[in-house]
Amino acid sequence: MPPNYTALFLGNTVGSCTVGGFPSYSINVSSVAQVQLAVIIARELDIRLVIKNTGHDFGGKSTGMGGLSLWTHHMKDWRFYEKYQAVDGSYSGPAFRLGAGIQAFEAFELAKAKNVTVVGGEGKTVGMIGGYVQGGGHSPLTSIYGMAADHVLSINLVTADGRFVTADAKTNSDIFWAVRGGGGSTFGVVTSMVVRAFPQMKVTIMTYNMTTSSTFTPSTFWEAQRAYVDNFEEYADKGFYAYYRIRHVNAQIYHDMNAMVAPNTSESEFRETLAPLFQKWQELGVPFTPFIKEYDNYHDAWKDGFPHEVWTWAMRQASRLIPRENISNTTKRAEIFDSIKGVFDEGANLIMFNIRNPPGTDKIDNAVNPAWRDVLMFAIMFVTWQVGDSAEYATQLNRNLTYEWNPRWRALTPGAGTYMSESDYIEPNWQESFHGWKYKRLLEIKKTVDPWDVFYATNAVGSEEWELEGTLLGHLPSQNSRLCRK
Ligand SMILES: Cc1cc2nc3c(=O)[nH]c(=O)nc-3n(C[C@H](O)[C@H](O)[C@H](O)COP(=O)(O)OP(=O)(O)OC[C@H]3O[C@@H](n4cnc5c(N)ncnc54)[C@H](O)[C@@H]3O)c2cc1C
Repeated sequence: MPPNYTALFLGNTVGSCTVGGFPSYSINVSSVAQVQLAVIIARELDIRLVIKNTGHDFGGKSTGMGGLSLWTHHMKDWRFYEKYQAVDGSYSGPAFRLGAGIQAFEAFELAKAKNVTVVGGEGKTVGMIGGYVQGGGHSPLTSIYGMAADHVLSINLVTADGRFVTADAKTNSDIFWAVRGGGGSTFGVVTSMVVRAFPQMKVTIMTYNMTTSSTFTPSTFWEAQRAYVDNFEEYADKGFYAYYRIRHVNAQIYHDMNAMVAPNTSESEFRETLAPLFQKWQELGVPFTPFIKEYDNYHDAWKDGFPHEVWTWAMRQASRLIPRENISNTTKRAEIFDSIKGVFDEGANLIMFNIRNPPGTDKIDNAVNPAWRDVLMFAIMFVTWQVGDSAEYATQLNRNLTYEWNPRWRALTPGAGTYMSESDYIEPNWQESFHGWKYKRLLEIKKTVDPWDVFYATNAVGSEEWELEGTLLGHLPSQNSRLCRK
């Protein structure tokens, strides 16, 4: 990374940046034939192949030193089907074929124009059918519809042997199963997918922010948070979703709700549901002015609810999918809440979701992490540092994340896991965390469809046979080093 964006302790000085962890060559893909050619060249010449869509992946999965990169960003073709028939007869209704480069905001605009709704992420510029849906894909609509991968009907992709194939419930059904949740850059280069569309709906959203002060103390803040989490089960079971952050800003606690989303819910129904919490917060003296509004379509609600997020390079995260049992059981709820507050008090920042997968989604036969099916809270902790911070300081933060803080959440949630696309990139035992009991089948499929390991990404299925040569801060695999077979 350019020196002024990373850290002086890496030895960078202004003017000395190198290509570093980036690929040497990049193909701005405009046709399937180009993808096929690149796959064959990479396989035959033993060149590291990197698939990059938006480049949003937190684990650096879309970059690779010295590689050949396929940049899918401009593959923006799409088509709307008024009545798409799934090959196995499991679905008949509206659907979109989306090209590999379509991003969330584009898909939502298309859906609005066709008076339907699609399941996509909250982040405006995240891809729809790249790492997002291939990793499972959670959405502000997940509490009513499940994961984005649950609504994929057909996939077109280039496999490691260079063939351009369709994978659906009847053809290449192993690949179809694996790509829906098994992770990006693993089974092929997806060029397009058909995804189900849902009827247009009314949506109510809420946003607000608050900061502690001499009159709004941290202890009152946490009491208010506890009261909110007490309602997680009720809210999620109504189909609500919430995405919010709690951060250290200027020695205060800054909390922003961006946003709570209530699909198929009017503003008055929403206010009625939230009234007991608001009452409690008023009694506590919480200073907050919520923005609450009902919309007649999902796109406009999403657009107002989720501002364009800007992330920093000097940031790392770790996370856990917190099961229902840890929220519905009063003692366990107190334990996990105290643990989350504990890592915040020790220096972590928090990104939190109140989210569920609706009943029946656990029966869907795809590769989505089983830990998603029982979730009520998705908790992410993250650390950041500044360009001028010392190596010792950054090392300590990074070590805390993986070896001190996340193990506490893990200990309280045995058998759960986390979400590969928003996780620690050195997540211990990631096979179990990201895939649970599905990992065995995923690895078998990987070995069958890509025996050459043409496709590799950090912590992707089969990647345990590879390692990066160098490390950063003594323990982090460095993208600025060669990828080698172990
Ligand atoms: C601001 C922001 C908001 C986010 N919001 C959400 C959210 O609401 N819900 C959620 O679930 N996640 C969210 N994420 C996480 C997001 O799902 C991951 O970062 C995901 O990996 C992004 O996929 P991408 O294709 O856009 O990015 P990339 O970094 O380009 O790709 C990610 C991975 O997928 C592979 N890949 C990309 N395209 C293809 C393809 N066509 N075929 C095969 N492999 C491919 C890449 O090689 C890489 O391994 C968010 C991330 C950010 C930065």
